[in-house]
Amino acid sequence: MKPIELSFEFFPPKTAEGVEKLRASRAELVKLAPKFVSVTFGAGGSTQQGTLDTVLEMTAEGFEAAPHLSCIGSSKQSLLAILTQYREHGIRHIVALRGDLPSGMGEVGELRYASELVAFIRQEHGDWFDIEVAAYPEFHPQSKSPRADLENFARKVKAGANSAITQYFYNADAYFKFVDEAKKLGVDVPIVPGVMPITNFSQLMRFSDMCGAEVPKWVARRLESFGDDRESIREFGLDVVTSLCRRLVEGGAPGGLHFYTLNGAQASKAICQRLGIKSV
Ligand code: FAD
Repeated sequence: MKPIELSFEFFPPKTAEGVEKLRASRAELVKLAPKFVSVTFGAGGSTQQGTLDTVLEMTAEGFEAAPHLSCIGSSKQSLLAILTQYREHGIRHIVALRGDLPSGMGEVGELRYASELVAFIRQEHGDWFDIEVAAYPEFHPQSKSPRADLENFARKVKAGANSAITQYFYNADAYFKFVDEAKKLGVDVPIVPGVMPITNFSQLMRFSDMCGAEVPKWVARRLESFGDDRESIREFGLDVVTSLCRRLVEGGAPGGLHFYTLNGAQASKAICQRLGIKSV
């Protein structure tokens, strides 16, 4: 198998315990020599300081750290202030998103879509930032149609994105088809698969419901049948996700794999080990 470039996604912890847990996870995951790590951002700027603090701590440890930035619910002025702050800290890599407003919360903001945020970043900061955007092999839940979603994806790449990371999925065919269709629309940037390790059945079903990712029925039924047997869930989850990753890499997924770690190291690390990725 060709070398796999890894990236790991974290969220900014809210408690001192959470900060320690994340440090411990990073200490494990750094051994897999990731290309970069990324840190999520709460819609409307709710985690703004936490995202920056976490990114700076990781940068100081030697990681290339990319903050996520979402535009929904924000003014151009506030987005510009955040971008300027990142730039002043020497951050050159960013994940640009629309984000989701919690229901009933506030105004949409001045930029309605990620494509507008990407264009705004390019307009204000030229080529300073390497920009990632989100892709949805099973399509964004609010999109009008698969075709419209693909066209919107192509639009945000054309606005100036350098690469894309997908929403997680468990159906490799959906990914390969999406990549093929995107290519036909002129998208020539890497579309890196986002990988969600499976460790907890109810949490997985809840997340998948929210983001529109499909958990295949045979996977859901098996997981459900394990009840509270966490070891069986872990073992089965590792098998399913490692097979998926192997298929993606062997099938030509470019660049590598992006792991949604949920701030834990064990599941991502175990999958990487099963894929034969050596620790340094
Ligand atoms: P967009 O690309 O703007 O698309 C949103 C919807 O609008 C889609 O249905 C699209 O088809 C449609 N659309 C786009 N352009 C147009 C147009 N011109 N006209 C009409 N319709 C259009 N959320 C967070 O809050 N914080 C995070 O840190 C975060 N990180 C993420 C990281 C990754 C890798 C992924 C895949 C998702 C992440 N999300 C995060 C979730 C993301 O914010 C949501 O999925 C959100 O609903 C869509 O964001 P987007 O950037 O994909 O939006």
